[in-house]
Amino acid sequence: MQTVSDYFGSMVFDDRVMRATLSADVYRSLKKTIDRGAQLDISVANAVANAMKDWAVAHGATHYTHWFQPLTGITAEKHDSFITPAPNGSVIMEFSGKELIKGEPDASSFPSGGLRATFEARGYTAWDPTSYAFIKGKTLCIPTAFCSYGGEALDKKTPLLRSMEALNRQAMRILKLFGNTGVKCVRTSVGPEQEYFLIDKEMYDKRKDLIYTGRTLFGAKPPKGQELDDHYFGVIKPRVEEYMADLNEELWKLGVLAKTEHNEVAPAQHELAPIYSTTNIATDHNQLTMEIMQKVASRHGLVCLLHEKPFAGVNGSGKHNNWSMATDKGVNLLTPGETPHENAQFLLFLCAVLKAVDDYQDLLRIAVATAGNDHRLGANEAPPAVLSVFLGDELTAVLEAIENDKPYFGKKKTQLKLGVDVLPLFQKDTTDRNRTSPFAFTGNKFEFRMLGSSNSIACANIMLNAAVAESLKQYADRLEGVEDFNTALHLMIKKTIKDHKRIIFNGNGYDEAWIKEAERRGLSNYRTTPDCMPHLLDKKNVDMLTSQGVYSETELKSRCDIMLDNYCKAVLIEAETMVDMAEKQIVSAVEKYVSKICETAITKKNFAADISCDYEHGLVKKLSVLIDRAASCTGDLKEAVVHVRDFCDIISEANYIRDEILPKMGALRAVVDEAETMTAAEYWPVPTYGELLFGVR
Ligand code: ADP
Ligand code: MG
Repeated sequence: MQTVSDYFGSMVFDDRVMRATLSADVYRSLKKTIDRGAQLDISVANAVANAMKDWAVAHGATHYTHWFQPLTGITAEKHDSFITPAPNGSVIMEFSGKELIKGEPDASSFPSGGLRATFEARGYTAWDPTSYAFIKGKTLCIPTAFCSYGGEALDKKTPLLRSMEALNRQAMRILKLFGNTGVKCVRTSVGPEQEYFLIDKEMYDKRKDLIYTGRTLFGAKPPKGQELDDHYFGVIKPRVEEYMADLNEELWKLGVLAKTEHNEVAPAQHELAPIYSTTNIATDHNQLTMEIMQKVASRHGLVCLLHEKPFAGVNGSGKHNNWSMATDKGVNLLTPGETPHENAQFLLFLCAVLKAVDDYQDLLRIAVATAGNDHRLGANEAPPAVLSVFLGDELTAVLEAIENDKPYFGKKKTQLKLGVDVLPLFQKDTTDRNRTSPFAFTGNKFEFRMLGSSNSIACANIMLNAAVAESLKQYADRLEGVEDFNTALHLMIKKTIKDHKRIIFNGNGYDEAWIKEAERRGLSNYRTTPDCMPHLLDKKNVDMLTSQGVYSETELKSRCDIMLDNYCKAVLIEAETMVDMAEKQIVSAVEKYVSKICETAITKKNFAADISCDYEHGLVKKLSVLIDRAASCTGDLKEAVVHVRDFCDIISEANYIRDEILPKMGALRAVVDEAETMTAAEYWPVPTYGELLFGVR
């Protein structure tokens, strides 16, 4: 029997395959490109392409594609076969270095936010050799960046790579100050925990809302939801277990380090966490994971829902972005050290993150803003829309002691002086792991918990890397060239704590009192996507992101437009779907039921005139009122949708949608859900919440 180690990464053109299939010279050149970004010679590219093609063909591939991540948030591919005609009428399989390095998909329909006029719309894809090529189905997929001919990034990978480089640049300056001269680079690592729902495909197919929008737009609360907490970490049902086994196998073949799986809080909700890897690869792998999750589900007669809020009344799905920085020697810069020197360095990196989160709360909020995630943030199941950092009591006490020049009451009563004293050895906060904090320090990494389940993790990590790079830059600017390094360092850490301690919050983030407290502290609270998105173009944000070389100003403008446009489109599709379901399915179903009750009442009366029909009478009256209300709510919603055309700028349109369309959708839903509770099951036209949430066994 094949074991996992036999087939792990079998569909990946990884280091093992490169070593085995490339000549020593070619391998060395390619490694140099991967590790240090050196330019690749065309003869080397030809050799790599040929080896890749031979390997792929031997593994059953017939096509190749440049695999990229346009601003739609999902991945894109356009397949070309390897075939080239030979003079004798047959074909040979060919793939050149040129085709490997650069592609020109006719990708003019991807959103570019005005970065490209349609006449110059083509854009090109460029190989990212730092992420391995892999085979999916019969296609060799080559991870690529996607840019316009003017050089602007049209994707999420390019700014992510730039942000990693920005952080590397600044972190290296700091490490040099601490005398770490042997370090070649600093990389950020990410382990994204992915939540999802699994429901039965037959039921899914009966719900237009799930098909068109990924979430249920109607649905009365079932008698049982998640109140017993009996699903969380519960025994995994056989059908789900088979799904998970199949999913793991597919992911392992693709070199994805799928590690942990369990049931989540809501019924039908599950989670998959991989072992962390370099941010760029973690991002590619998370995109791949989401895709494979959906593909494998259909093989099992299931549908995997990645929407942030597929069901009202039970938890939605998020993605926890576990993030850290480490040197090429494998030293995690967020691990408290054992010597005074290491500790001072740890505290500086920790402070850099605190300062980054405080200074760029808005950017982190923007990075997770979508119409779907707006339903989760602040809904008592996910962190609020307010950013704060959880450090745990012990580390917070250490920072307070430093700020106030007070002794720290650890094991030993010491007045901490950075660079001189050893910090008390603090344990990972495992006992009171705070699950309500949007940004929690968990011992040697930060866990950013505001991401929605369908979000690409690229956006959050771009902003996080850039903001931390900015803190480190300011530190390095200050510290380079000072005479008394230890004193300057101590003062700077003190100042950071004083200036940014408002962002530290160790309490319950779901508590209403915290939102008031956060307001008092001056923290921003952008509840919705239209609230936060325009701040992407605030001067301080544009200045930082452009000076760190992560985005150009035009690229930022395009992102702002595209994100708001996505928001508007997503909500409008939902509104149209609601109207469609209400008019074509729900009202007519309730009418049928009402007519049936009327018939029953008439039959009863005919049978014996003195039989009371109070029940039928009451129900028909109530349902008729609801039918009228549903019709009028549908009319209101339809009219509101028509007015969207009146807006010619995207910000006012998004605000209108938030203020007018969403409340009208809520009103229609309330009426329909009430009608559902009074209508006989056999008449209700779509599967209910109870059936959807408890239907997979
Ligand atoms: P929990 O659910 O308790 O938060 P999990 O074990 O489900 O923990 O997920 C933790 C995630 O954090 C995993 O993906 C893991 O690989 C990742 N992780 C662990 N250490 C690091 C690190 N140093 N940097 C980034 N991610 C990390
Ligand atoms: Mg977690």
